[in-house]
Amino acid sequence: MSDTEKWKDINKSREKRPKVQEYKNWEELSPIPISLPIKGSMGTTGDWRTFRPVIDQENCNKCGICWMYCPEGTIIKNEDGSFRIDLVYCKGCGICAEECPTKNIEMIRESDVSHD
Ligand code: SF4
Ligand code: SF4
Repeated sequence: MSDTEKWKDINKSREKRPKVQEYKNWEELSPIPISLPIKGSMGTTGDWRTFRPVIDQENCNKCGICWMYCPEGTIIKNEDGSFRIDLVYCKGCGICAEECPTKNIEMIRESDVSHD
């Protein structure tokens, strides 16, 4: 079954749709008329990011809200369902930290990060 046929089938029934947590990345979303984030649409961040987001892995409930809201598509789902951030493209906007329901993402000033 082609991807298009698969999604046509899934869209017939709300119950059959995967839950947010089951999507691995935005490319698995069903084809709906929205503009999708392009990974690193702002380019690589190099040294211009002021803050970096840090996920507390121990307390993450794996809800996927941060992944859903990141405008750069730089939050990646790990095999175990947790999430990590691709800092090569993250622009440090802080939307993920703002939207995390458990306040589990801390925005740290880059100048305070140890680069040992
Ligand atoms: S700060 Fe969070 S929402 Fe903003 S680009 Fe980085 S990972 Fe995405
Ligand atoms: S929004 Fe917060 S709790 Fe949910 S997956 Fe992201 S870091 Fe974890």
